[in-house]
Parts: sequence; C-alpha cells; structure tokens
Amino acid sequence: MLDTEVITKERSHSVTFPSKAFAARSATSGLGPFTIERRTPRAQDVQIEILFCGVCHSDLHQVRDEWNAVMPTVYPCVPGHEIVGRVVKVGSAVKRFKEGDIAGVGCMVDSCRKCPSCLAGEEQFCENFMTLTYNGEDKILGGVTYGGYSDSVVVDEAYVLRVPNGLDPAGAAPLLCAGITTYSPLRTWNVGKGQKVGIVGLGGLGHMGLKFAKAFGAHVALFTTSPKKTADAVRLGADEVIVSTDNAAMQKYSGSFDFILDAVSADHDLNAYLQLLKLDGTMTLVGAPSKPARVSAFNLIMKRRRLAGSAIGGIRETQEMLDFCGEKGITADIELIKIQQINQAYERLLKSDVKYRFVIDMASLR
Ligand SMILES: [Zn+2]
Ligand SMILES: [Zn+2]
Repeated sequence: MLDTEVITKERSHSVTFPSKAFAARSATSGLGPFTIERRTPRAQDVQIEILFCGVCHSDLHQVRDEWNAVMPTVYPCVPGHEIVGRVVKVGSAVKRFKEGDIAGVGCMVDSCRKCPSCLAGEEQFCENFMTLTYNGEDKILGGVTYGGYSDSVVVDEAYVLRVPNGLDPAGAAPLLCAGITTYSPLRTWNVGKGQKVGIVGLGGLGHMGLKFAKAFGAHVALFTTSPKKTADAVRLGADEVIVSTDNAAMQKYSGSFDFILDAVSADHDLNAYLQLLKLDGTMTLVGAPSKPARVSAFNLIMKRRRLAGSAIGGIRETQEMLDFCGEKGITADIELIKIQQINQAYERLLKSDVKYRFVIDMASLR
C-alpha cells in the first residue's frame, strides 16, 4: 500500500531534460540519432555526462531482439551498460559523489533493496529482478530505461561506481560489464597463487578474465580455436596457450586444472573442458550459448567436478573490482570508435573482429 503510494509519487517525477542518444527503432533498423528524456536529478541522484561507453555483445542481441523469448526489446532501444562519465550534478542527499568526479554505471541502475540477495549485496540476483540500465522498466519516469549510447544519464547514487583516478576512462568503461563478469567468478571460486586456471576464449570477456587470473597470481592457460591469437594471449599474461581444436594437445592437460572460466558464447562442447579439471575442480560459464549444452555425467562424477554459472557482480564487488584495477593499473584493451561507426562495429563484432572491446567516444555525439 505504502509502496504503491511511493511509486505513484515517484512516477509523478515529471521534470526531465533532453539528452542526445543513438537508438534502434526496430530489430532491423540499425542505430541512428534520437533524443531521449532523462529525469532531472532527485535528492539521491547523480547526473553524469557520459564520456565513454563500451560495446557489449548483449547490446547487439538486445538491439536485434534476439532474446525475444526472455527479454523482448522495447523500441526505440538505446543500449549501453559500460558507462564512464563525469559527474555534472548531484542531488541534495548525495554523499559519495561531487561535481567533477569520474563515475561509472554498469548493467543495473536499481533493484528492490529488500530481498535476501539485495541485502547480501548481490543485487544482480535481486529476487524482484534488478532494473537493467537499458530495456528495463523505468520505475520513476515510466516506460523503458535508456542506456549509455547517450550524452548523459541520471542514476541513484547507490548504483553509481567510483572510477579510480589514474585509470584511463575509456579503457575503464568495459570493466563495468566485461570486467565484473570475469572478476566475480574468479573471486567467488578463490582463484589465486598455486592454482592452474584456464580461460576459454580470447574476446571481450576472455581477455579480462586472463588479466584478472594473472593478477590474482594463478598460472593461466588460454584456450583458443585460433593459433594466431597465441602472441596476443602471451602479451596479455597467459603462461600457456592451448589450441582447443588440437585433441592431442587437449589430452595432455587431462585432470590438471583447478578452475576453468568459460567465456565463449558460441555453441561448443563443454565435455572437452570438464575432463581437464582435477579432483573438485570447477568450471564456470559466463558466456551464454543459445543451445542447451550436453554434459556427460561421468565427467562430473569421476572427479567430483562442478559446473557452475555466474552473472556480473553486486555493486559492492564491482567497486572492489574497480579499486583493484586502480591499484594494479588494469583496463580493457580497446578500440575507440565514434558513435557514427556503431553499425559497422556491430558487423565486426559478429566476426569477433575487435581487440578486444569497442568503446564509443561520446564526444562524437555532442
Ligand atoms: Zn554487457
Ligand atoms: Zn532485491
């Protein structure tokens, strides 16, 4: 009853300002210029002038309505959830941010704050579902949330991250999704010194997983289907590079890994990797192939192996990850583009033709 009153009151927050954006008008239209309305900051809100926004593979799926069965796209759709910008305005109750700060926004801009997951700081698993940064329900203005392919965003400070000084803000943008998506499982399963860790796939996620696993002190092997990625993988920190299509090479590593992070979204055989785990080893999926996987029960039973999954991270852990990156000087390897190149960038993304994340320089929108 009270909640309804609050929602009604919040929905009446009708003061908005226009913001330049790039939006898709349909699944096949591609992205083009569009003007959206952002709410003027409430007492708890931070207004951010967006400087850079990473291009996540999810953006492409959502824009093309490829997740229609679970998350149908509402058009016009303004994607983008790897946002870094400058704070230009704060509400009267904001404590952690001031004008001029460099701030980040990731995949969520709110959650219920009351369920066990939220209370545990795992807002990404909110039982009432987190409010996604784009294509989520805008509980304040009504309609749908708009993401970071835009010149500004207004977010409750509880869901805004501090980006450490000294980190290149463009290279830091992908940390907000690709970074936390790989950092969280490596932390959850206590990856560190003395362990042998495998990273499957050298893309936007994989290259971050590689950097983090190495920074945590593990011996890291990179699995790839393409031998020509070897030199790059070594440069990024891999101790070994294993070509996964080479059965003899794979066989050599049977039963030797403590942990494997599988960052591949294309359909592939999980058994080939499961059999590489040692007793009590865990393989965690962060890529999401479209088809259900076939898993041999023997591969799990014989060495008490575990197959798990993981999704981004909570706000507290995302801040911890950014602070860690600040200490260690970790950012993503990026290719900076103008917003006008976004449709071409999507085509290249489909061919994995990017090293290793596109980031949009939002100055091109102003
Ligand atoms: Zn993402
Ligand atoms: Zn919740």
